[in-house]
Amino acid sequence: MNSETTTLPHDTGAAAGDASSSASSVRVASSGPFPLRSPAGGAPLDDVAETELGALATLVARARAAQVAWAEVPIRERAELVARVKKRLLARAEEIATLVHRECGKPIEEAALAEVLPNADLIDYWTRSIEELLDDSPVALDPLAYPGKVGRIQRDPRGVVALITPWNYPVAIPLRTIVPALLAGNAVVFKPSEVTPRSGALVASLFDGLLPDGVLAVAQGGSDLGAALVGAGVDLVVFTGSVATGKKIAVACAERLVPTSLELGGKDSAIVLGDCDLERTARGVLWGAFTNAGQNCASIERVYVEQAIADRFIGRVVELTGKLRAGIDVGVMTTARQAQLVRHQLEAAVEGGAEILAGGAPEEGSLAFPPTVLKVEREDTPLLQEETFGPVLPVIVVKDAEEAIARTNASRFALTTSVWTRGYERAHALARRLRSGVVTINNHGFTGALPAAPWTGAGDSGYGVTSSPHALAELTRPRFLLEDRSRAKSELWWYPYTPALRTVAFAMARARGGAAWFGRISALVELVAALARRLLGR
Ligand code: NAD
Repeated sequence: MNSETTTLPHDTGAAAGDASSSASSVRVASSGPFPLRSPAGGAPLDDVAETELGALATLVARARAAQVAWAEVPIRERAELVARVKKRLLARAEEIATLVHRECGKPIEEAALAEVLPNADLIDYWTRSIEELLDDSPVALDPLAYPGKVGRIQRDPRGVVALITPWNYPVAIPLRTIVPALLAGNAVVFKPSEVTPRSGALVASLFDGLLPDGVLAVAQGGSDLGAALVGAGVDLVVFTGSVATGKKIAVACAERLVPTSLELGGKDSAIVLGDCDLERTARGVLWGAFTNAGQNCASIERVYVEQAIADRFIGRVVELTGKLRAGIDVGVMTTARQAQLVRHQLEAAVEGGAEILAGGAPEEGSLAFPPTVLKVEREDTPLLQEETFGPVLPVIVVKDAEEAIARTNASRFALTTSVWTRGYERAHALARRLRSGVVTINNHGFTGALPAAPWTGAGDSGYGVTSSPHALAELTRPRFLLEDRSRAKSELWWYPYTPALRTVAFAMARARGGAAWFGRISALVELVAALARRLLGR
């Protein structure tokens, strides 16, 4: 990792300026794009060294040079090096959870459960499976048509991967790409969110001393630095964040023909059917809506509940919401901007006739947004159309599952959806009709922590895939390698093009299905004769 672009070394507590003041690419930010106070209580946060725009070219060039050597390290050795990160991560569990709590405001338990433990599984999964996943796969070739030839598909690293991440899971989201990207032989230039730069630096510090210099670099800054990184000559951009930014990155990448992976926003719905286990459903929906103060791409932001069970379900959800403890179960929101956006959506919904059943917006300027439940009828309100990203749970009563599916699929977002029912067979049939990239039956959202399960969406939720072997399709390029051991001096399709070759081509077409059965027989006879003429060079 490049020391001149990181923030504090985790174990010294020295100011960033102390650690890097001699480097020309950084300056100590006393303001810049980084928040200086914790959303959880307002305590001051450490200074962060901002990467200068002009330093990006050097970072990428160093990453490119380092990547070539890194890709030559045998996969098993790469896996052994990266596997050591697991112990460091677990040994620093409290430090990580505390820092994430301070930077994001989420409860420490939530930080430990979502940002530390699943990453141990992530490292285990990728380091144990990468050799097999990257193994060459043979391609079967017909020995009659292609004598002497064998083919195989190899997986080549992309090269330099630019990783740009959001603030809501500032440890788990970067790691879910850094780990497989490095194992696949890439170098990574990582730009954490400007809201959580210290967590980003901590993530990178987990790899300190394990990797050749330049293979993992951190660039600290805001949107201008992110945009510059996209244009800095990288080979792949992996982005997780908002739809608006995702679209800008997609355009910038299209202009440069740089492949990109986009994991964007969500408007997840929970479909609650009349035959569900009411208690489990109410508790599951509550957690799905309010974990991380609703600042989760897969937060439940719409519940479509069947009429038959609606009153009992809503009653129980409201009751359970009343028991959630501010700052203990549900943390503060991370940014004032996001809290303001949530307030506006809530106000518009209420103006449109929605009824608040629990919670409600806090006083202006407060980040302590209470978990809020409301009953909504009109679909044409921003609260049901746009991503909310806050602790607000709109409940919509529907006639039946058909209406719930139709309304769920009508959204421009399609990240995850949950179906709550005891009828598993029916749930599977409904799941197949949903557009979202993840469907969970009687649970919600947690599959983002499963490294073997693809995390992906459709529509405005983007087209990226993280986790699972499918993610490797983005982090690597397939290379087809053909080996020809034929002793023939020429191939059928090589020059010269002769009348016999033309006859061969059309006889083949008829013999392979282009003619009725008697036509195929005569085509075969014609083919043999034409092949013989062709062999004689005619
Ligand atoms: P954001 O788009 O504002 O910022 C994300 C990152 O992009 C930051 O690092 C930011 O500095 C950078 N950035 C901003 N403008 C840029 C530009 N023009 N070019 C390059 N980089 C730029 O998003 P956010 O507010 O940090 O995160 C919240 C969003 O992320 C929500 O919409 C949420 O749903 C989404 N999200 C999606 C997933 C998923 O897996 N689908 C997971 C977590 C969060």
